[in-house]
This record gives sequence, C-alpha cells and structure tokens, in this order.
Amino acid sequence: MSGPLPLQVGDTVQMRKQHPCGGDTWRIVRVGADIGIRCLTCDRKVLLPRAECERRIKRIVARAADVPSDQPSPD
Ligand SMILES: [Zn+2]
Repeated sequence: MSGPLPLQVGDTVQMRKQHPCGGDTWRIVRVGADIGIRCLTCDRKVLLPRAECERRIKRIVARAADVPSDQPSPD
C-alpha cells in the first residue's frame, strides 16, 4: 500500500497480525501523530505510531462515514 491511509475515527480495520486474544479487527478511536485502536474482540486499547499502524493494517473493513465531515462538498 502506498501513501498515507485516510484513517478516520470510527473506521474498522483488519490487521495483518492477530491480537493475542485471537481477534484481528480493530476500531480506530484516535487519529494524530499516534493512532489509537481498540480490539473489537477483547476491547483492549492500543496506541501506535501512525507509520507503524499503517504498516500493520491489512485492509479497511468499514468506514466511519462515506463523506468525511471535515471536508467541504464538491458543490
Ligand atoms: Zn484483542
């Protein structure tokens, strides 16, 4: 994957590596220099540097919203 991922709070992502609890699906709970993610299986919260977090993400399962609220509409 190239370029920064457009991660948003509320996005659901699948990680390349399973959490020790067996889950591989996480919810983005914070974005910034560090990305906060919460395991949807065991509810544990982890803070990762953005670059490392993006490397670990396999795919985005679901977006928080189709249109980002902080961007103006094309009209
Ligand atoms: Zn877990």
